[in-house]
Amino acid sequence: MPGEFEYIAWLRAQTPADPRVLIGPGDDCAAIATPARAVLVTTDMLMDGTDFILSEIGPRRVGRKAMAVNLSDIAAMAGTPTAAVVSVAIPRSESRPTHPPPSREGESLPSPLAGEGGESSSRERGKVTRVGKRRPSSSLLSAPSPARGEGKDNPPFPSGRGTGGVDLAAELYLGLREVADAFGVALIGGDTNSWNGPLVISVTALGEATARGPVRRNGARPGDWLFVTGPLGGSILAHHLDFTPRVREALLLHEVVNLRAMLDISDGLAADLNHLCEESGCGAVLFADAIPVSDAARVLSLTSGKSPLQHALGDGEDFELVFAVSLEDGAKLLASLPIPGLAKIGECVDAGLWLESAGVRQPLAPAGWVHDLGE
Ligand SMILES: [Mg+2]
Repeated sequence: MPGEFEYIAWLRAQTPADPRVLIGPGDDCAAIATPARAVLVTTDMLMDGTDFILSEIGPRRVGRKAMAVNLSDIAAMAGTPTAAVVSVAIPRSESRPTHPPPSREGESLPSPLAGEGGESSSRERGKVTRVGKRRPSSSLLSAPSPARGEGKDNPPFPSGRGTGGVDLAAELYLGLREVADAFGVALIGGDTNSWNGPLVISVTALGEATARGPVRRNGARPGDWLFVTGPLGGSILAHHLDFTPRVREALLLHEVVNLRAMLDISDGLAADLNHLCEESGCGAVLFADAIPVSDAARVLSLTSGKSPLQHALGDGEDFELVFAVSLEDGAKLLASLPIPGLAKIGECVDAGLWLESAGVRQPLAPAGWVHDLGE
């Protein structure tokens, strides 16, 4: 793609008609049809050097992950994702950071909301500067208009010095679209700035609750059974980039049983289960033998000094769902196994977080650590 205007035209041509989208990219706002039920809203920001390493994985996988983590949160409420907006800070092509990126300690990163009131922000030599009126927020990954905001210190995207930034933005967009298309999500707008910092991408996803309502974290009760939708641990080896958000699984489960509490595993099984217990006001015991351990966790354990189970308990970004159901519903799930990989991993108790192994119950730290696993 030779330049920014071609890029914008290309982007708009990429956006298919969607009956839910009344006004798509290109205006000051997008407009979507009012859904029949509660609107779910979630946002997640990913940063080069923290959530991914751009130089190792490339922009397309970054785009995939940025969309998928948001859809995973919609899945965690058993909702149907419908639309998303994307804000991106693109590194200028000649100033891509080498890794590790420079520390941002002490600097204030402008948020996607920075410049509220009609301005957008751009970083120059570590300093946030205002660069004029905010561009139309619905022009997805749009380039700043050179007619406004352009100046000696704030050249137009992609800096007018090569097409690296545009290529990066286009690859990101294709990654976003790959996951969005797989789940019928309309990309309805966004904002793109360029700066001398690393790639930052923030996606805000909208979803719609089902007729049964959104599934929250706070409905688990002592005696409930706990399930997980797939194997855990070792996501750092690739799964955290290439996972499939469990949207379909959540919707299916929500039809079959009453999901009392649910979340997606981003921090790690033990930590996220602890969140669920805190919100529900109960405790939980996990059965060590029942926790599905991924192949990646086993591979990682060969060199990490941790056991596969410790990886399954403590590693983050599995993006499987953990949920609580009544024991009657639990038995129904075990009998029918509507989801491949579905596993009962424990039960809710009155208080505490526990790991039970060979009939012995011991405290489990929310970080996944347990004293002497005996392995
Ligand atoms: Mg979540």
